[in-house]
Amino acid sequence: MTRTQLVMANWKQQGSEPALKHWLSEVSVPDLAKLSRVLCVPLPYLAALRQQRATLQSPVLAGAQLVSAWSGGAYTGEVSAAMLREFGVAYTLVGHSERRQWLQETADSRRAQLAALWQQGITPVLCVGETAAQHQQGQTFAVLWQQLAEVLDPQPAPGPLVLAYEPVFAIGSGQPLSAPDAQQVHQQLRQLLQHWYSAADCQQIRILYGGSVNSNNAAEYLRYPDIDGVLVGSGSLKADSFNTLCRAIAAVNTSQCVALP
Ligand code: PEP
Repeated sequence: MTRTQLVMANWKQQGSEPALKHWLSEVSVPDLAKLSRVLCVPLPYLAALRQQRATLQSPVLAGAQLVSAWSGGAYTGEVSAAMLREFGVAYTLVGHSERRQWLQETADSRRAQLAALWQQGITPVLCVGETAAQHQQGQTFAVLWQQLAEVLDPQPAPGPLVLAYEPVFAIGSGQPLSAPDAQQVHQQLRQLLQHWYSAADCQQIRILYGGSVNSNNAAEYLRYPDIDGVLVGSGSLKADSFNTLCRAIAAVNTSQCVALP
């Protein structure tokens, strides 16, 4: 079983068109055979991203940070999955904790977003994770179960899925969950997925870790068998640190991987 490693940069509500152009002109990583890179920009920059991606020597896929739950119509301010596809978006975040917390997105809306993305052939990256209080009270497993069940029950639509495990307290705090701890949760997540997917399909689903990943710690996560990549916020804003991060991940070879008992 080989899952292509995935590094996703999430710019959140940050950046500018000149900053994007500069970032893309600087981003370079050799030997990307086993590593895909995705840049999730704010929506207004998708056109510039599409234009400049075509000229890049090492590929960067286009990602979005949100999608409408509706396929189209009189919903002011919304952007449909079909519109994202027009701009070449390949991956879209769903259920990021910042949207759960600040934008009151509901489980129904997340379900509809997943369906809309699958319908347009875009891969959803479903973000899940517990708060600090839930973590301290030992509720991680129950919270993750709930966050998966509310969108995958009774049966997920047929379409590719990526999970991003992001403990809420690790996001933007400079206090990442350790790689061994993240591995434990990722292993549990893969087991939970068996409720909806065949064992073989579960082995294909990529699970990313997110939360204060940077160029110094990123490679450590990729040494663990159930961690297939990283979702990076502030550590992705500068092209040179992002390049260092990607190079460090690409350099992890199988002899450095942690063998589990
Ligand atoms: C994120 O945006 O999902 C994230 C993990 O942010 P940061 O890397 O800044 O913690």
